Amino acid sequence: MGFELSREGLDRVLTELGESYLLYAPVLKVGEGRFTDADVVRYDYVSSVEQIELAHKSDYAFKELLTPLSETLFFFTENECKVADAEARKVIVFLRACDLHAVKRLDQMYLANGPQEDWFYRRVRDRVAFALIGCPESFDNCFCCSMDTNVAPEGWLFSLEQTDDGYRCVVADEQLTEVFAAQAVGEAAFEPAHVSANDTVVRVPESVPVAIYQHSMWDEYTARCIKCGRCTISCPTCTCYTMQDVFYTDNGCVGERRRVGASCMIDGYTNVAGGGQYRRTACERIRFKVLHKVHDFRKRFGYDMCVGCGRCDDICPEYISFAACVNKLADAVDALAAQEVSADE
Ligand code: SF4
Ligand code: SF4
Repeated sequence: MGFELSREGLDRVLTELGESYLLYAPVLKVGEGRFTDADVVRYDYVSSVEQIELAHKSDYAFKELLTPLSETLFFFTENECKVADAEARKVIVFLRACDLHAVKRLDQMYLANGPQEDWFYRRVRDRVAFALIGCPESFDNCFCCSMDTNVAPEGWLFSLEQTDDGYRCVVADEQLTEVFAAQAVGEAAFEPAHVSANDTVVRVPESVPVAIYQHSMWDEYTARCIKCGRCTISCPTCTCYTMQDVFYTDNGCVGERRRVGASCMIDGYTNVAGGGQYRRTACERIRFKVLHKVHDFRKRFGYDMCVGCGRCDDICPEYISFAACVNKLADAVDALAAQEVSADE
C-alpha cells in the first residue's frame, strides 16, 4: 500500500513509531567531515524526517549499530564473569537497497559462517528492523546494478522517499498500515524507487585462476595505497574485528573483554606470535580484500560480498578505485585465459 504524506504527517508517524523504536538514519553532519569545513553523512538517531539525509549517500555505513566499533562483551573478576548488558530498545534502521543486501552479508558472516551463531550479534540483530530509502537516481561511484543489489530484498517495514511536495511511503508491514493511513494526504499504487543503471559498470570475473595471485596487476598498489583502512571502515560488508582485554588491576585478573573493529588493510592486523606478519605489502592487502569481496566469499556462500555501494571509492584518500580494480581483475583473468588457449594451440 502506497501513501503520500506531508512533512508534518510523516513526523507524526515517526513520533508514533518512536514510542516503540529508536530510529537510526543517515544524517548530514555539517562541518564534521575529515577536512576543515567539510560535511559528512553518517548514521545517527533521529526523531523527525527533516533530520534524515535523503539527497546524498551516507559516507559511512550503518554497520556500527550491528557491529559496534568497540563492544564490551563481558566483565571478569578473579572468580566470576558477567556478560555485558545490552540495549533493550528496538531499532528501525533506514537503509538503501544496497545496504539491505549488505545486512544479508553481515548475517551470513555472523550467523551462518560456522557451527554456531555469534551470540552477541544475534542479540543485537533480533531487535533491529529496517525501513527502505528509495533511490530515484544513482550516486557517484555506485555500481549496485553490476552487483544485483539495486532492488531491495524483502524484509523492510516501509519505504521512504521525497517528492516535490512531500514524501511517499510504501508500507510492507500490515501492522503499520493504519499508522500511515491515519496521517496520509493521499493513497497511490507505486513501488519504491530503484535505479536501473549506474555510470560505473563493474565486470566481476566468474572464476579466478591461481595465477592471478602472482599477477603484476597488483604491483601498483604498493606505491599508491597508504594502508589507512578507510575503505574497510566505510564498507557495509567488512566484518573484521579483534579482541582486547582491558585490565582494571595490575594482576590482570579483573577487567573486561571488548570486541573492537579492525581492518585487513592496516599494519598489525596479521601479526602473529613469534613476530610473524602476513601480507606485509599494500598490494598483498588489496589483493586479499578485492578477491575476498568478489571471489572467495562467493566460492563459500554462492554470492558476492561486495554490494556495489561505492563508498570505498568515495573515501580513499589516494583515489584508488575498487571498481576499477575489479574491472582490471576481469581483464587480467581474460588475458590469462587467452594465453592458455594460445599455448594449447
Ligand atoms: S567493497 Fe566498496 S563498493 Fe563493495 S560493499 Fe564495500 S565499500 Fe561498497
Ligand atoms: S585503498 Fe585507499 S582507503 Fe583503502 S587502505 Fe589503501 S589508501 Fe586507504
